[in-house]
Amino acid sequence: MIKTDILIIGAGPTGLFTVFEAGLLKLKTHLIDALPQPGGQCSEIYPKKPIYDIPGFPEILAGDLVNNLMEQIKPFEPGFTLGDRAETIEKLEDGTFVVTTLRGVKHNAPVVAIAGGLGSFEPRKPPIPNIADFEDKGVAYIIRDPEVYRDKRVVIAGGGDSALDWTIFLAEVASEVTLVHRRNEFRGALDSVERVAELTKLGKVNLITEAEVKEIKGDAHVTGLGIKHKTEGDIHVDTDYFIPLFGLSPKLGPIGNWGLEIEKNAIKVDNSYDYQTNIPGIYAIGDVNTYKGKLKLILSGFHEAAIMCQSAYQRIFPDKKYVMKYTTVGGVEGFDGSKKEAKKEVVKAIV
Ligand SMILES: Cc1cc2nc3c(=O)[nH]c(=O)nc-3n(C[C@H](O)[C@H](O)[C@H](O)COP(=O)(O)OP(=O)(O)OC[C@H]3O[C@@H](n4cnc5c(N)ncnc54)[C@H](O)[C@@H]3O)c2cc1C
Repeated sequence: MIKTDILIIGAGPTGLFTVFEAGLLKLKTHLIDALPQPGGQCSEIYPKKPIYDIPGFPEILAGDLVNNLMEQIKPFEPGFTLGDRAETIEKLEDGTFVVTTLRGVKHNAPVVAIAGGLGSFEPRKPPIPNIADFEDKGVAYIIRDPEVYRDKRVVIAGGGDSALDWTIFLAEVASEVTLVHRRNEFRGALDSVERVAELTKLGKVNLITEAEVKEIKGDAHVTGLGIKHKTEGDIHVDTDYFIPLFGLSPKLGPIGNWGLEIEKNAIKVDNSYDYQTNIPGIYAIGDVNTYKGKLKLILSGFHEAAIMCQSAYQRIFPDKKYVMKYTTVGGVEGFDGSKKEAKKEVVKAIV
């Protein structure tokens, strides 16, 4: 059982900044995210797009914002359960919560902060009748660890950045990589399309366009695929793995069954005070919540995280009085001596 002070569901920008705000209050944090990497929408949907409305940054790439947040929270050493979805919640007699993931990992905390954004991203699955039978037996919708495919035969399907990027990457790892796409044109970045064409010429990628995977063959594990080609008809390809990369669609998912008040696919919270839900001890912050006037922006999530952590502190330590300190005064323990700097500043100010 993983134990922490604030269990954060969702490692998007809101969840990551919650670690910082909690850390200032000396509260421990652990994050769960269904995606294999932190950053939420910023990492998954638009890492290379510039954002212009983060205060103090006239322009910053979404991926760089996530890297900066990871750097900022490093001193607080948060725990991560990645590539796994928070599935159920249970309240214990001592008032704490136990959240269990799809893979059965249990997390215990007195406070749960749901920073689930648009929900957990569910993979878009191709309509192949027996595909569910082969999940985790050669079929994967997200590549968590590319080493799994070392010296194996892999078929990737899709026409976007994810399918192209992984084809390029796995061409150096797998023994054989086939990319299947139903059109001749790709939706991904031009340089990736060109690189796949080069690798195809070099014989490192087997490219099959105007074709769709229609059948998965195998018994205990995938052994081959039946592919329907527009002009050539049925093709058989031997393979060890099939990875359809057709994008991810967000769904509120299991959190929707936790007894929380939901309105328009978002969690209702008390925005007159601390972003707590109808269940005391469970907060909802960032894109996942709703209240009158809500703006689904990164800066709203940052603000809500700060307020929520103050309330969580009072909940965990009802007898302690917390006096808010500026970071310029209190510093951030463990952050490259900045605390010392901050102390010096205070001394100077007093002198
Ligand atoms: C193309 C695009 C451009 C944008 N541009 C801007 C902009 O310029 N400025 C701006 O302020 N905002 C912008 N946004 C919006 C911004 O990205 C969101 O407001 C922000 O990502 C919300 O952060 P979050 O942490 O609340 O949620 P998210 O970023 O959605 O992260 C939530 C995380 O929770 C995880 N999760 C959900 N449910 C579960 C579960 N049950 N178990 C485990 N994990 C779970 C998800 O996997 C996800 O990683 C843009 C969005 C898009 C799509």
